[in-house]
Amino acid sequence: MSRYTSMELNKFLLQEVHAVNELFVLPKFAHLNWEEAWMMIESAKLLADRDMAPYFKEMDAKPAEYDGNGGVKTHPQLKTIIKHAAENGWIGGGAKFEHGGMQLPMMIYNTAHHIFMSANNSCQGYFSLSAGAAALITSFGTEEQIKTFVPNIFAGKWQGTMALTEPQAGSSLTDITTSAKLATDGLYRVKGQKIFISGGQHEACDNFVHLTLARIEGAPAGVKGISLFIIPKFWPEQDGTLTPNDVFCAGDFQKMGQRGYCTTHLVFGDKDSCRAWLVGEPHKGLSYMFQMMNEARISVGLDAASVAMAAYQASLQYASERPQGRLASEKDPLKAPTLIINHADVQRMLLTQKAIAEGSLSLAMECNRLSDLVHGTEGEEKQKNLLLLELLTPIVKTYSSEQGSRSAALAIQTLGGYGFTMDFPVQQHYRDVKIMSLYEGTTGIQSIDLLGRKVVMEEGRALIILAEAIQETSKKASAHEALKKYGNDLSQELTRIKQVLQHLSGFAQQGNVDRYLADATVFMEQVSYVVIGWQWLKQAVAALSALQLGNTDQTPDFYEGKIHTMKFFFRYELPHAAACAKTLMDAEHLTNIKKKEIFG
Ligand SMILES: Cc1cc2nc3c(=O)[nH]c(=O)nc-3n(C[C@H](O)[C@H](O)[C@H](O)COP(=O)(O)OP(=O)(O)OC[C@H]3O[C@@H](n4cnc5c(N)ncnc54)[C@H](O)[C@@H]3O)c2cc1C
Repeated sequence: MSRYTSMELNKFLLQEVHAVNELFVLPKFAHLNWEEAWMMIESAKLLADRDMAPYFKEMDAKPAEYDGNGGVKTHPQLKTIIKHAAENGWIGGGAKFEHGGMQLPMMIYNTAHHIFMSANNSCQGYFSLSAGAAALITSFGTEEQIKTFVPNIFAGKWQGTMALTEPQAGSSLTDITTSAKLATDGLYRVKGQKIFISGGQHEACDNFVHLTLARIEGAPAGVKGISLFIIPKFWPEQDGTLTPNDVFCAGDFQKMGQRGYCTTHLVFGDKDSCRAWLVGEPHKGLSYMFQMMNEARISVGLDAASVAMAAYQASLQYASERPQGRLASEKDPLKAPTLIINHADVQRMLLTQKAIAEGSLSLAMECNRLSDLVHGTEGEEKQKNLLLLELLTPIVKTYSSEQGSRSAALAIQTLGGYGFTMDFPVQQHYRDVKIMSLYEGTTGIQSIDLLGRKVVMEEGRALIILAEAIQETSKKASAHEALKKYGNDLSQELTRIKQVLQHLSGFAQQGNVDRYLADATVFMEQVSYVVIGWQWLKQAVAALSALQLGNTDQTPDFYEGKIHTMKFFFRYELPHAAACAKTLMDAEHLTNIKKKEIFG
């Protein structure tokens, strides 16, 4: 079993870069201290080593499979994985005490989940979906709904899912047609189909709790007519018995990656008797669901960073063991071949992977910290944290998944031909990570969210808060002569973002919103490079300070590796931001064209 995460990095990010200790003074998290939190993370690592990592390859080779009659066969280990994850608090751990949780900060809870994600990407989704579904019920459900569903979900007995997508409505939830009709028993009867539902049916849980979007008869058109329902596969009756509900699993999609994680096709109400429980008020379903979607988007960003990290660790190990060729300066053919890690081009590939994986992981940690602060602070402070979190959410989801794919491809490239074979794990990482840019809103949709909503909300306040946070890091960097230049580079890129927005907003002011949003993905790329540059500068400031103070939490090599990778990011990656700006500011526009014959 090769190394798939770096516990040194996890500790460094938590303590030295993102100041987790500051959370333990907030009333919500005051029950915990660093030593206890770290012990929990170490025990999560043991769990991943024992229960998850050894099944990484096997769960891919023997994927989840439809049995032809409503059931999905999953790997036998899945039951143990979910059971142990639940027993150790890794499903309900983030929930409040009053709901049976451990009130863990997301920084701690999600560091454990990062370890699970990088150990075996076919299993963590089952328990994070359950956690998200339970959080939705505790936020918007009634006491009775909470009591009925949440303890069973936290115990790992019942699986929570999110059921949004329909065959004709993926990116555009406006177009969902699943219908709901109020019945005389006060419940609803739902009819419709949902596709691509992760964890929708499998052998490891006894019941399935589908958090489902549907339209109540007579509801307004569009997103304002969507309601949220709880639809269990087996209905929990008042006397505690379970009655089959009219929910049928009609298939399981076979996929290129995450093959141990089932993706089902669900049919509700085929016999007109699918009982559903409304959550909250009618027609407010999508706004409720956004809570789960936003958490899931950060989680997908973390997931992509985690797979990129596992692929990086595997390629680093290979490059450190594989001899091939000699340096150009070595003319003696009788000299033993050098290890490939000594070739500059292999170092470029390794540094690119490290920059992407660790930069993305740091950004995910930043988002987790903001989420903890949103829930642990009040007033203006809370609002500022929330705005920044909302702005960073589509960025962490998109940068990590798009660049995570690139990073995993570089891991294959580092191994040469062996990387393409099934003997090494990197091809699986490459297949596993691809989904991250698709589900929970594709890259195109996230980019439109960034440029069309997040950048303009509250008259651009979120972007101002981000710029202030970046300037604060630059100020800290400027206290070190060696880092000053990098802070200046970021300031220059912030100015460039402003110029691009001034240019684009001209189109919006003319009412040409299609043109304004046409290259939103290029804008996403531009902003992402700057945001990841910020994360790298933060890491470099922490590393240099540690070296100067003689901090022995990590080795000097570890800290120097951080500073070196920061320099690499600024030299090899950040310049792409300027290239994006050039594309965005060009007077000639090449997308959003009406003449489709051009594609012929
Ligand atoms: C493995 C897997 C697991 C999933 N799990 C779940 C789940 O648990 N629950 C759930 O509800 N769903 C789930 N999904 C569904 C997933 O969220 C959708 O596949 C995704 O939102 C995209 O929808 P679509 O596949 O219909 O593609 P489409 O929406 O048809 O998109 C196709 C392409 O068109 C682009 N596009 C679409 N609309 C626009 C637009 N307005 N502007 C610009 N570009 C646009 C997209 O970016 C994309 O590149 C899962 C999907 C997969 C593959």
